[in-house]
Order: sequence, then structure tokens, then C-alpha cells
Amino acid sequence: MSDLVLERTRKEFGSFVAVHDANLTFEAGKLTALLGPSGCGKTTLLRMIAGLESPTSGRIMLNGKDIAPIPAERRKFGMVFQSFALFPHLNVAQNVSYSLRIAGVSAATRRARAQELLELVQLGDKGRNRIGELSGGQRQRVAIARALAQEPEIFLLDEPMSALDAKLRNDMQMELRLLQQRLGITTIVVTHDQREAMSMADRIVVMSHGRIEQVGTPQEIYHRPANAFVASFIGNANLLKGVSTGRGVQLGAAEFAVHHHGGFGAGEPVTLLCRPEAVRLSEGAPATNGLPGRVTFVRDEGVAREIHLDTPAGHVTAEIPGSFNETVRIGDRLHAEFPAETLYLLPSTASEAA
Ligand code: ATP
Repeated sequence: MSDLVLERTRKEFGSFVAVHDANLTFEAGKLTALLGPSGCGKTTLLRMIAGLESPTSGRIMLNGKDIAPIPAERRKFGMVFQSFALFPHLNVAQNVSYSLRIAGVSAATRRARAQELLELVQLGDKGRNRIGELSGGQRQRVAIARALAQEPEIFLLDEPMSALDAKLRNDMQMELRLLQQRLGITTIVVTHDQREAMSMADRIVVMSHGRIEQVGTPQEIYHRPANAFVASFIGNANLLKGVSTGRGVQLGAAEFAVHHHGGFGAGEPVTLLCRPEAVRLSEGAPATNGLPGRVTFVRDEGVAREIHLDTPAGHVTAEIPGSFNETVRIGDRLHAEFPAETLYLLPSTASEAA
């Protein structure tokens, strides 16, 4: 198992900084997701690790050694791209064992290794098929098997699921995760899909505009987001602008108690985070932490109903489980309650404070 460390790794394209000095440790044997919106620099970071781009400054260390002098083809890193990039003129087994052929491995060993890998990704009976005869999910598995052929030290995947439909994507996320855990291979997955990152990763690196906003487990990132950007990028979030009272938050005329206050001093502008599943709705006003609201939108999500309200403190979304509140209609007047133990105060960003 290999660990990989980025030390102030930076990438500039002309005067544009695609990745600001990044300090990151990818733990041996773990799956780390690089997550962020389009253009935030995650692919550039992955390409620098792969050796397809050179950092402008900083170092990338593999097991304590700077890998800068090692060209991409000599880094033993398996890569899976969004497009899978399989060779259509080769059959499935030949695709899987291609890198072994280039490395001069004998035909018999290549065949045995390809079969072993195809069994691993549940395609043991497809070795002789042509690529064009496979479904999207099967092609993705071939791409994974091919990347594993040379027993890579690090496994790098760039948006590996984006060509798959939602159901297949879900299945493949689970399969890939199980495979990664079984092999114990240090893995980095680039994705812009927060659900994908949450469901697969041991650790998530959230990026925005070339900067690392937060690194943590899925639970930490969801329950303890570092700022409003992370909170809104991971799951649904109610973010209400207010002012810290030292122990709680003032939202216009309303004052809320907040358990996770974050040490903000009285008078500091803050953003209040409340997840929609924590909001409670009632016809009468709750004793504390309540806001009156008017229903503006109702949506059934199967396991829950999403109810949107306009309140004096801003737009609020509540997620109510089961069929409860089936009678709620647009225009109804309700009260939203924000339980103190579910609330967090986050720093107010410059644009929010304005
Ligand atoms: P996406 O999910 O859309 O692929 P990303 O987060 O992976 O986005 P990158 O591909 O890393 O983002 O790109 C980061 C920024 O760097 C973008 O603004 C992009 O236009 C820019 N960029 C990437 N490669 C180059 C290049 N070779 N020359 C100039 N600018 C580049």
C-alpha cells in the first residue's frame, strides 16, 4: 500500500492559477474523492499526480520520494477515464492485458492475468467478446480491469461513472468500492457528484476555484462543513444570513438558540446552517426557534416530502418523512421550527455579508 503526499503543489496555466498551493495526504489503502464544481481544478490535480501535467511549483511525494523525475508511463498508476478509452479493434481480454503486452509479458501469462482480472470484475465469460458488444457498465468494468493489470500502486479515476445511467451508476459505485476495499489499493476518484463522493469515499477533498475548502470523512463534511460553500455543495442546506449574539443567532426579529455555535463573537455576521431534514413544521408557533412562513412549493420525493417556505429570514426547505403533511398546499401558512441541537453557525462569506 502506498501513500501519496502533495506539498504546496501548484499549477498555473499562463496567469491563471488552476490549483493553488495544495497540501494533501492521500492515505495508503483508502479511497479519497476529489469533489467540486466544474472548473475547480480537480482533474488538473489528478493529472499532476498521474504525471500528465507538471506542477508549476511544489512536490508530489510517493512513499516519501518526490516523483517529479518519473514520467507518466513509468509511474505505476492505473487510470480510468470518463470515456473509458478502450481499443475497439481488440477483444475484451486483449484490452485488459494491453499494458502487459507493451511490457513484454509472455502471451500465456497475459491470458491468465486477463482472465483473473475479468473474473474480479465479473466478466469472466466475456474475454473473447468485442468491445462493441458490451453494455456501458461492462465497458466500465473492462476499463477498471485494464487499469489494474499492472498491479498499480495508486488507482486514479476521473469521473468514472459519468457515462452511465443512474441505476448502473449506483451499482458500479458499490462494486468499485467493494473491489477497492478488497484490494486495499490507494485510490483517488474525481467527481462533481456529491452523492458519489459520499457513498464511496473514506475521505472527501472539497475544492472550489483551485483551492481546497475542506478535507474530511463524508460524515464530517456533511455534519461539520467548514463554510457555506461546502454546506451547500454537500446535500441540501438552508443557509440563512444572521448576526451572532454570542450564544445564538439573530435573524431579523427572531433570535435562535444554537448548540454548535462555533465561537463567533456577538455582532459578527454569520450564516446559519440547518439541513432540511432537521426542520419541523407545525400550524401553531413553536415555543422557541420558530419562523412563520408561507408554502411556495411542494414536491414528493418518495420517502419524504419537500416543502418550501418563504419566511422573514429567507427561503427555507423542509424535508418531512413519510406521507405526513400530505394535505399541505401552496399558499398555506405554517411555522418552521429549527431545533437548536441541529443548527450550526458558519462564517459569513464576503458576498453574503454584503
Ligand atoms: P471538470 O469537472 O469540468 O472537468 P475540473 O474541476 O476537473 O472541471 P480542471 O479540468 O482541472 O477542472 O480545470 C481547472 C481550470 O483550469 C479550468 O478553468 C480550466 O479551464 C483550466 N485549464 C485546465 N487545463 C488547462 C490548460 N491546459 N490550459 C489552460 N487552462 C486549463
